[in-house]
Amino acid sequence: MHLLLSVVQAKVPRMTQETSSDAGTAMTAGPLPWPSEWDAVVVGMIASGLVTLSRGLERRGAFPVPYPVALQRGLDRLSAMAMAVGAETPRSVMDLAEWSHRPFFQWPFHPSVEGMNGDEALLVNGKPSKACLEWAVISGDVEGEIRERMLIHGVLDVCKAQNNPDAYVWFRRLLVERPAMSERDLVVTMAKPEFALVAQQLRVAYRPAPAEALIDGEALVCGGCGHLWTVDDYGIRRCHEWDCPAPSTIKTRLPRSEGVVWLSRELRTFISGPGRSELRIADALTRAGLTVQLWPDFDACDVLPAEVPWAADVKSWTNPVRLAWRLTERPFVVPQNADRGFIVIAKEQTIGRAEYLRTLRNHCTWLKSQSRVEVVSEKTYIDRVIREARRRNCEG
Ligand SMILES: [Zn+2]
Repeated sequence: MHLLLSVVQAKVPRMTQETSSDAGTAMTAGPLPWPSEWDAVVVGMIASGLVTLSRGLERRGAFPVPYPVALQRGLDRLSAMAMAVGAETPRSVMDLAEWSHRPFFQWPFHPSVEGMNGDEALLVNGKPSKACLEWAVISGDVEGEIRERMLIHGVLDVCKAQNNPDAYVWFRRLLVERPAMSERDLVVTMAKPEFALVAQQLRVAYRPAPAEALIDGEALVCGGCGHLWTVDDYGIRRCHEWDCPAPSTIKTRLPRSEGVVWLSRELRTFISGPGRSELRIADALTRAGLTVQLWPDFDACDVLPAEVPWAADVKSWTNPVRLAWRLTERPFVVPQNADRGFIVIAKEQTIGRAEYLRTLRNHCTWLKSQSRVEVVSEKTYIDRVIREARRRNCEG
C-alpha cells in the first residue's frame, strides 16, 4: 500500500484548485435515487476494503489481485451513486485510492454521512487513517478488527483458563506503556514470569518495525506516546501516531542492529490509544488516595475504583457520531459489582471540541435508554469519583 498508493498521491500533489469544498457534490433537490442507508454503507465498504488492501500490500509487497471484495463493491456503489446525480465517478481502485487521500469534503462526489468530518481523509501517506480504521470497525466485517480481537480474546482465554487475571492486566499495561521496543527487550520481557502465560501472544502482537521507522541505522521512540517516529511522504520525520501529545520529542533511540518491534496499527489505535487515558485516570485516582483496578475481572470494564464502584469504559474515537453508532451496536455492560457505568471520552478527543459529548449523546440511541450509564469527559469522571469518595468517607 505504502509504495503504490503513495505514488498515486504524489501524482496529485496536495489538494487541487478544481475542488472547492463542495464543488463536486451534485446534490439535487428532491429525494435521492438510492436508499438512505447506502451513504454510510458505501463509506464503510471503502474503509474496510482499504484496510484489507493495505494489509495485503504489507504482507506481500504487491497489490492483491483480485481486489478486496468490499473495496470493489464500494467502488461500484459509489460510482453508481455519483452517476445517478451526474457527478464525477471514480473509474478505478487507483482513482478511489487517490480520492481517499483527499479530505472527505474534497471528493468530487462524497456520500452524505454525519460520521465523517469534512477534513478527515481515509488514507494518509498511503496508509489507513484512524478515521478509516474506525469506519472499518463500524462496518464490522473487516479482518483487522477480527484479528485484533482474536489476539485479545486469545489472551483472555489463556488467563481465564489459568484463573490469572493479573496476567491479563500485565499484558494490557505493557501494550500501552511499551508500544515499541528492541527485539532483545521483547525476548527478555517474554521470559519474565509474569508474562510466561502470554508469551506466545506477545510474539504475535509485536512485529518488525517498517522501513520508514528505521533511518540511519536506528529507530526513534517518541517521548509523547512511546511509538516510533516515521518518515512521511514529504520527508518529515516525527511521530505520526494519532493523538500523540508530543510528536516531536524523543524518549530513546533503538539501534537497528538489535532489531526493533512495534505493535500493529489496530492495537496502536484501539488498545494503546485509549490505554494512555486509562492509565492517566488510574494515576490521578491513585494519587487522590483511591485503590484502582484496571481491566478488572478479565476486562469487565477499563477502570474500577474500589471505594467508589463506578465502572469506566474509556473511548478515544475521533468522531462522536461513529462512536455513537458503535455503542448502539455494542453497548457497554455495567459490571455486576459496579453501582453505575460511565463512557469516558479521552482528553485528546474533547480538548477544544465542546460539542463532542453533546453530539455523542444526541446520536446514541442506546445511551438515551440508559439510566445507569452516562457519557463524560476524562476530567469530569476523575473529579466526580474523587468528590464521591470524599462524600462517602465523611459519611462513613
Ligand atoms: Zn508519539
